[in-house]
Amino acid sequence: MDVMSTHTINSRDIAARIFEDQNQIRFAESEVFYWSARSNIVFYNPALFDSVVGVYKLLHETGHALLEHATFESAPELLSLEVAAWTKAKELASDYGITINQDYIENCLDSYRDWLHKRSMCPACKTVSTEIAANTYKCFNCSQKWVVSPDQRSRCYRQKT
Ligand SMILES: [Zn+2]
Ligand SMILES: [Zn+2]
Repeated sequence: MDVMSTHTINSRDIAARIFEDQNQIRFAESEVFYWSARSNIVFYNPALFDSVVGVYKLLHETGHALLEHATFESAPELLSLEVAAWTKAKELASDYGITINQDYIENCLDSYRDWLHKRSMCPACKTVSTEIAANTYKCFNCSQKWVVSPDQRSRCYRQKT
């Protein structure tokens, strides 16, 4: 058994193969990895391809693109889209002979859950409430209403790798 084999994977080569194989998808460089349903582009940061984590992120956003995910309407929907994109990313990863670290995926999903939790906390009394309309919440306790940003792009990006 060659124990070194997992360390000799060249993430840049894998990223290049993904771009070649998924040529029905448009890719463009950006500081942050994200899928834009509106412009139909997967954005990626080539600097992160020094590490396999960059490939994980690329596969994840490619998963969103292949599943044709549109913008989410509610928090539970967002989480299910995230899980679906990771499932797709894992399928793709096996085509490239790599396995996405499950802890990495769980950390990404946790960072989404934290983000959703923060969004759903009443700014006046800190009671956690539910969305009454897209990006709009109303407090169960004090009836305060608040509107949150729909921007989900930086979620996985911000978490430590
Ligand atoms: Zn995602
Ligand atoms: Zn409140």
